Amino acid sequence: MKKDIIRKFVALAACLAFCTGTSCGKVERPDDKENVTVSGNDSTTADISETTADASSENQSEVLTIPAATDENTSKTATNAEGEELPVSGQPSEGTSSYTASGSPSPQTTSGTGSSQTPSGTASGSQVTEISLTFYEVTLPVGGSKMPMVTMSPATAENKGEIWTSSDEKIAAVDSLGNITAVGEGKCIITVKSDDNPAVSASVQVTVEAAKEPAVADGVTYIEGILIANKTYALPASYNPGGLTNECYSAFMNLVSGAAADNINIYCSSGFRSYESQQYIYNNYVAADGQAKADTYSARPGHSEHQTGLAIDCNIIDDSFTGTPEAIWLENNCHKYGFIIRYPRNKDHITGYKYEPWHIRYLGVEKATAVYNSGLCLEEYLGITSQYTY
Ligand SMILES: [Zn+2]
Repeated sequence: MKKDIIRKFVALAACLAFCTGTSCGKVERPDDKENVTVSGNDSTTADISETTADASSENQSEVLTIPAATDENTSKTATNAEGEELPVSGQPSEGTSSYTASGSPSPQTTSGTGSSQTPSGTASGSQVTEISLTFYEVTLPVGGSKMPMVTMSPATAENKGEIWTSSDEKIAAVDSLGNITAVGEGKCIITVKSDDNPAVSASVQVTVEAAKEPAVADGVTYIEGILIANKTYALPASYNPGGLTNECYSAFMNLVSGAAADNINIYCSSGFRSYESQQYIYNNYVAADGQAKADTYSARPGHSEHQTGLAIDCNIIDDSFTGTPEAIWLENNCHKYGFIIRYPRNKDHITGYKYEPWHIRYLGVEKATAVYNSGLCLEEYLGITSQYTY
């Protein structure tokens, strides 16, 4: 408790140090714009470019810079309430199939490898006669992982245990829950059999591609043209777009309008944060809690995605945002405007951050949609890690 108070105090100090009083925590133009931009396309465009241009002026960029102790920082210490309220995808094994995806595709697929097999002559209602999966083919980069959800039929079957195997563990491994992890380049088949009736199975054709090669320019890492800032890849202190990038800002305004059309109010609570802001915040946390503890909830300077000018924390930056209509809308729609939920649920061991339904990252519509459709987090999609190496 005491630590929390200290943290809040530090956060406040950081906030006062970097914000110009009244603008702190309230934010900023996206909010203001929201009321203005809904009608009139021409004026909207003019508005946005004019405002965005302003971002380079000193005052404006101060307004945009919100080093509040939010986001990855404070929320890391919260107990993960969402872990309980959210259905953990596919943790069955004990014969439950409650995780079964609704609307899962028909088990019959056209490709030979993908179909489930129903043996003839088993009519017992209590025995598994069919297995269907949410996907039958997947392409992963080395290091990537993905888990199909399983439906065993009939629903009345008593033993819905699963037995997972890989035809080549040097290419892809699979654990007892069906989580497939890409190991090396090539193709293999992952098969799930019914524990109850091993004659019944379904399989996934896995293609593993080489991890994409990072390209470094002026100390900034790009993979497939995507700028990366995570625990493995840092930005140099000099990297400072001065605020959200024009493209990101415009895309966010479109998102706000799109949400408003669905009666959803999305606003920016934290956008750009400079290296210096993050350094100040982080150092204060280290002074208060020690580095080991601070690292569990605060990004080291250079490692915060907010330094890219491509990340936005929406609305309420704590676990209470989880499951709200706004959070659900963002999860289902933000890719249409070029954003992804950067730290999805159940991916914390890969992204290095726990589920943050409020933190969106701009990638452009095409890439964001591809990541969304893959069901992977960005690290998995690109085949990269997010771990401090110092
Ligand atoms: Zn954030």
